[in-house]
Formats: sequence, structure tokens, C-alpha cells
Amino acid sequence: MLGHNLAPLRVGQGWDSHRIETGRPLILAGVHIPCEFGLAGYSDADVLFHSVTDAVLGALGLGDIGTHFPDTAPEWRGAESSVFLREAVRLAVAEGYRIANVDTTVILERPKLNEFRKAIRENLARVVELPANLVSVKFKTAEKVGPVGEGRSCEAQAIVLLHAQSSDQAVQ
Ligand code: C5P
Ligand code: MG
Repeated sequence: MLGHNLAPLRVGQGWDSHRIETGRPLILAGVHIPCEFGLAGYSDADVLFHSVTDAVLGALGLGDIGTHFPDTAPEWRGAESSVFLREAVRLAVAEGYRIANVDTTVILERPKLNEFRKAIRENLARVVELPANLVSVKFKTAEKVGPVGEGRSCEAQAIVLLHAQSSDQAVQ
């Protein structure tokens, strides 16, 4: 039995893009990628955490990352983006949902990210409180086309599935 009119399943999609800038860190799901450039942004510019945060908020119909963490607020300058995703997960639980799985794609021309997949996946799984086998992290280039392909930006896409907690399992 589901609680008060909860849809049993809700899907959410998220997308984010950040400009590449020398001298900035390149951080994907909290993992620092050694590189001579990084991503510009108000927070730590963790494009992957941002896309997953928007996917969770989207599934809940609760606006987007800027609704909850406006980039005009001084407390979010340089913020670790795990804070945003943790809050989205907290909201999901408060609304009676758990995350079923997460699938993501990072689109970046270089460097190759394959060797960091395990660390990125495990860190993302930790923050969304799932076992790593329910979290997927994929990488693509943009085949040298467009801003990503020309090495001017990095994008991330995410999709999450939420399932309603049955009332007998619900956290009080
Ligand atoms: O974009 P493309 O299809 O050529 O990417 C081939 C593979 O290279 C991807 O499936 C991924 O495993 C890897 N890749 C990567 N780091 C990137 C882009 C792609 O490891 N920045
Ligand atoms: Mg962002």
C-alpha cells in the first residue's frame, strides 16, 4: 500500500553545462581530475552533481538547482556541489520517495575519463545513497563539433527514477 496519493514511479531528467577555463579545478561528482584546465562556475562547477541534482528535483517537480541554491547567495560561492545533491535526495525522502537508479553521461572532449569512472561512480553512489551497481556514469566526446567538441565547455546529462516508499517501510 502506497501512502497519500504518491505516484509509484517518477522519472526526472537533468542537464548542465560549464565553460572550460584554465586554472580552475575539474571536478566530476566530487572527484578531482588532474588537468591543466577546469570548469568555470559560481560553486565548484561540478557539472555532473548539478545534472543529477536537477534530475532528482525534476522527478519531484520541485523546480531546479537555482530554485533551491540561487547563485546570488554568497553562501554558495565555491560550494561543494555534493551539498546540492544531498539536499535533493533529502527532499525526495521527505516526499516519500527513494531513488531506484541513476544514469548519467558526461560529454567532454578531453581528457579521457575512463580511468576515473570507478571513483566517479562510487562517489556519486555514496552521495545518492545507492549501491554503485545502481549508478551509471558514461563518457562521450562531441566529435570535435560545437562548444564541447572545440574544448570550450563540458556538459552532463542525468536521468533518475524515483519509487514511492510503501507505508510500512516509510521513515517516520
Ligand atoms: O565520444 P566517443 O564515442 O568517441 O567516446 C568513445 C569512448 O571514449 C566513450 O565510450 C568513453 O568510454 C571514452 N571517453 C572517455 N573520456 C571522454 C570521452 C570519452 O573516457 N572525455
Ligand atoms: Mg552547474
